[in-house]
Order: sequence, then structure tokens, then C-alpha cells
Amino acid sequence: MGELQLKDLYTGFRDPEVIQGYAKLIEEEAKKLSSPINIMEVCGGHTHTIMKYGLQQLLPENINFLHGPGCPVCIMPKERIDHAYILAMQEDVILVTLGDMIKVPGSKGSLQDARAQGADVRFVYSPLDTLKIAKENPEKKIIFFAIGFETTTPMSAALLDVVVKQNISNILFHINHVTVPEAMELLLADDECKIDAFLGPSHVSVISGSQIYDKFPSEYKKPVVVGGFEPVDVMESISMIVRQFAQKRCELEVQYKRAVNTEGNLKAQTLNENYFEKAPHFRFRGLGDIPNGGLKLRDEYSAYNAEVLYEELLKSELIDDHKLCICGDILKGKATPPQCSIFGTACKPSTPMGSCMVSSEGACAAYYKYGNLL
Ligand code: SF4
Ligand code: SF4
Repeated sequence: MGELQLKDLYTGFRDPEVIQGYAKLIEEEAKKLSSPINIMEVCGGHTHTIMKYGLQQLLPENINFLHGPGCPVCIMPKERIDHAYILAMQEDVILVTLGDMIKVPGSKGSLQDARAQGADVRFVYSPLDTLKIAKENPEKKIIFFAIGFETTTPMSAALLDVVVKQNISNILFHINHVTVPEAMELLLADDECKIDAFLGPSHVSVISGSQIYDKFPSEYKKPVVVGGFEPVDVMESISMIVRQFAQKRCELEVQYKRAVNTEGNLKAQTLNENYFEKAPHFRFRGLGDIPNGGLKLRDEYSAYNAEVLYEELLKSELIDDHKLCICGDILKGKATPPQCSIFGTACKPSTPMGSCMVSSEGACAAYYKYGNLL
């Protein structure tokens, strides 16, 4: 028997025959429906799978995808990006963040632009890499600009845990962690968002458990299936949702049983709770203020909080998007990228006018990339 290779772990989940098999199953179940159903995939990772593998084209006409707000880069409002820009421009600061964040334009420019102006901006794959940067630059303040949904919050908490326990004085935090269920609730309160069911991101539930979606079937009467990111996972999840409608059920189900249970990762949750608490509100780009939609550092860790320490430099005035950008409607599932008048012309990955085109997980970037426009 040969050595196990990485591709052995996912090939089966991309098997065209299995995908086609699910497409047939969905088609059969969908014949029993009295009206069409709109399924919102909350997460940009799912949007990419759907676009990359052409899954919408495999579904019958009465099953539609709506793309949701689940990308932390897409929903970052300009004023928070401006915070990062201003902090990066301080002479004694090294600003550290994750991947795509570096390219998103705020009102002053992106972190990439700040870098071109001489700022020291670095991106890391893991927040813990910040420790090495701090050690190598003891005379600098290292500010970790933390982003992400429930998936990445424990990694920021783990960094904070080391910083606090080892009394490292030159690492500070600017916290922008947001939470998925509150954003979903906001969408459901908007009559123009025609969502019938949700496809929930599996990685969020690996940390928080499937329990975070309990209220959606019970209170809002919207089924949720927590699904994985491979095309077979997505198609199986869709078949589970369609079957619920065909059988007139409304439940929370888990497709991604490989790693998701009801409670989630209790250790990670405890670590989060030690350092973070709910912020009374967090402004999501395109969605507006979401009560309890984000996290903040607990007051006892204010000494590590860049927002507190640099309060005088960091304004909170709200900054709107480019007037032609419809990211807001896209993040709410009310519009698709081709409906934007500057999609693919003035706005493309090389010259993004809005965050959905910048983040590689954004819906506009996915339509651009997989719509053969590259
Ligand atoms: S970071 Fe990507 S994969 Fe994770 S929730 Fe956001 S869009 Fe989904
Ligand atoms: S194409 Fe660009 S400008 Fe239009 S909605 Fe998408 S990101 Fe915004």
C-alpha cells in the first residue's frame, strides 16, 4: 500500500460521479416542492466551492443559492481598516494581520498602500507567528490586527494567552472578531432578504458547535444544515435541506459529522471567554450595526488594547463605501456581483473598489475568477 497523500483525503469529496448523484437526488426531492427555495450559504468559502464547481448549474430551477456575509474581510468597515492604516503609519509600530486584509482599501488606502509609504506591515499565517516578530524587534510595538469569525478567534486568544502569561510588553491587539449567528438574525429581520434556509459553515461549528444555530429552526422557522466545504459536502447539505422542505420538517442538521458536534471545542471556547466578551455592537460593512455581533477585549486586558492606548488617533466616524459599490446588497443576498455596474470593469481584483472583490473569499472575486473573466 502506498503512502497516504494529501489528495487521498479530499479526492472522494470532489468525485464528479458522486456530485452528479446528489444532483439527481436533489432534482427528485425538488419535484415535491410547492415553491422555490432560496438557500443562503453564509460563508465565502462555500461561495467559492459553488462557483468553482458550477454547483448552481447542477441544481433544478427551484433551488437557488444566496451568497451571505460570512467573510471577515468582506464585512470589515472602512473605519476599522483606517484604524489599521493609522496604527501602521506610527513610526515605532509593526502592524501584523492575516492574509487578504492587507489589500482591502479603507478611506486612506490599504495596508499595502501604507507599506508603500514606508509603514512596516506584515502578514502571518498564524497569529502565534507574531511572537517571533516581537522577539526580533524588542524596540517596536507589534500590533496584531485580529480578524475573523468564530474560527479564528481562539487563535487570537491563544496569542493573547502567551502574551499575558509571559508578560510580553511589546504586543498589542486591535480586535475585530465577529460572530455568525447575530449576522444571520439581522438578515432575517430584513423583509427584503428572501432566505428560506441556511447552509452553515462547518469550521465555525468545529469551534462553537452546531448549538449556535438552535434558534433558527425553532424561533425563525428556518432550517440550517452545517456543511463542509468540498463540493460533495455542499451537494449533500443541499440535498438534506431540500429533503427537509419536501418532508415539511424544519430542523438543525449536521452534514459535516467528520468534525462537528453539538457542543464544539470547549477548550477553545473557554480560552475565548477568558479574554473576550461581546461588544455591545459591531458595524459590519454593508449590513450596519449588529447588536452583539462582535467581540472586544475584556477590560482587565486594556493594557494590551491598541484601541484604548491609541484612542486619540483612532476616530470612530463612519465611512461609507464607494457610491457605485453594492457590496451591502451582495452581502445580504439581495444582489449578485454581475448586477453591480462596475463589476469586471472599474472593479476587478487588480483594482478593487469594494471589499467583496478584494478578499479572495468575497463573492465578487469568486464570480470574477470562475466566470472566466481572468
Ligand atoms: S474566512 Fe473564509 S472560510 Fe472562514 S468564514 Fe470567512 S469566508 Fe468562510
Ligand atoms: S464589483 Fe466591486 S464595486 Fe461592485 S459590488 Fe463588487 S466589490 Fe463592490
